[in-house]
Amino acid sequence: MTLIDLTAAPLARPTNAHLPVAIIGAGPVGLAAAAHLLGRGIDFVVLESGPSVGANVRAWGHTRLFSPWRHLVDPAARRLLE
Ligand SMILES: Cc1cc2nc3c(=O)[nH]c(=O)nc-3n(C[C@H](O)[C@H](O)[C@H](O)COP(=O)(O)OP(=O)(O)OC[C@H]3O[C@@H](n4cnc5c(N)ncnc54)[C@H](O)[C@@H]3O)c2cc1C
Repeated sequence: MTLIDLTAAPLARPTNAHLPVAIIGAGPVGLAAAAHLLGRGIDFVVLESGPSVGANVRAWGHTRLFSPWRHLVDPAARRLLE
């Protein structure tokens, strides 16, 4: 049996390294990504098509969550909030 080498090749320095990371969508996942980038000191911009952050979540915000908060909040976001 032959095993496939899944080791990631080292990245060459991209020519657009001076640009910020573009995060598409300010939902829970996009905001968690932003929190991680902030923690690493990496520039980013969040692009949201809705009228505000969390536009999709706000649409059903009247509904009770089925998950406890500790399972919903990303660790990097929690550190910022604290
Ligand atoms: C009624 C309901 C209750 C839920 N309860 C729970 C729960 O208790 N626990 C749980 O873990 N999950 C729950 N979920 C699921 C949870 O909401 C989703 O898993 C979560 O919102 C996904 O986050 P996301 O950031 O990937 O996507 P979304 O929340 O969908 O966010 C995506 C964002 O991107 C924006 N967007 C989309 N397209 C573009 C574009 N082309 N350019 C720019 N912006 C764009 C949208 O406007 C939106 O703000 C629930 C879902 C529903 C519907």
